[in-house]
Amino acid sequence: MTTGILTIDLDAIIGNWRKLAAMSRAEAGAVLKADAYGTGAARVGAALAEAGVRKFFVAVAEEGVALREAVGPAPEIFVLSGHGTTDTALIRQLNLTPVLNSPQQLRRQFDALPGRPFAIQLDTGMNRLGFEWEDWAAVTDEVLGAGPRLIMSHLACADEPDHPMNAYQLDLFKQMTEGMRVSRSLAATGGILLGPDYHFDLVRPGIGLHGAAPYAQGAQALQLDLPVIQTRDLIEGEVVGYGNTWQARRPTRVATLAAGYADGVLRVLGAGTNVYSGDIACPIIGRISMDLITVDITDLDADPEVLTLIGPQQSVDDLAVTAKTIGYEILTSLSPRYSRQYIGG
Ligand SMILES: *Cc1c(COP(=O)(O)O)cnc(C)c1O
Repeated sequence: MTTGILTIDLDAIIGNWRKLAAMSRAEAGAVLKADAYGTGAARVGAALAEAGVRKFFVAVAEEGVALREAVGPAPEIFVLSGHGTTDTALIRQLNLTPVLNSPQQLRRQFDALPGRPFAIQLDTGMNRLGFEWEDWAAVTDEVLGAGPRLIMSHLACADEPDHPMNAYQLDLFKQMTEGMRVSRSLAATGGILLGPDYHFDLVRPGIGLHGAAPYAQGAQALQLDLPVIQTRDLIEGEVVGYGNTWQARRPTRVATLAAGYADGVLRVLGAGTNVYSGDIACPIIGRISMDLITVDITDLDADPEVLTLIGPQQSVDDLAVTAKTIGYEILTSLSPRYSRQYIGG
């Protein structure tokens, strides 16, 4: 198979979860939306369930299918987008817990699935998902009477510890849930790092499981090796790739790798990004194509079989900086075409 090989270290992910969980007296769940940030929700979910995770979060009900199969009937799977018009059957069949975000979703849940588990999201200023103050006030008694599994909100600026929005949202969340005898959750990875005031009963790490910012001190869980499918020698003056953007200034040996922007190797990464053979850097040259990358391997002693894009020499966050984006986007862009190999767990 001529695709990138993505090696996912389950022990590193479990270790990161344990370290994040140990930062708080609250229970730690795990957020596995977008196929566990590209790493594979089924395998990662099974490993985390084995390690003790009892509450998982996905973005949409469809993501619950593979995860439910992997973790079995016991762990709770929350659906962050809530209960949409076409979600009822899946929620019932898979025993998912929708996080209701609006009066409409609340009615849908109570009409279609009365007595079944649900959670509530409150909007505390991010203005993205969740009940607004007045809408929440109108249904609070009814909701509390029905026994929500969780009341949660989400921080907009948790990766900036000094941002005044953090304290503002914390205060609003407390006001909206004061005195309620129900499990509460506010913190994702960034919120865990803000300290115990933000932890409540349950924390919801996602990116931190993968050792990327804002939890860059975590263990790197990924290696991405790209196979070399052809090599050639250029004489000085020859050009490489679309648009002839790169020209050889010396006799150059070029390797062509089997991955491109269709695999999440963002086109903006072109010139200025290296891939690695062990610890030797080999610069990407020319434009990144849809399925191919060209690399200058002149300085290597022998043609390599693979070159490493993500690994000990270059983290997900390093790539994110080069691409002027965030680790979340690098991870969730990892190609479904890569062959995923799991170690540990
Ligand atoms: C994505 C998400 C999380 C996890 O966030 P990280 O920053 O990846 O830890 C937690 N809660 C909600 C509501 C989310 O959307």
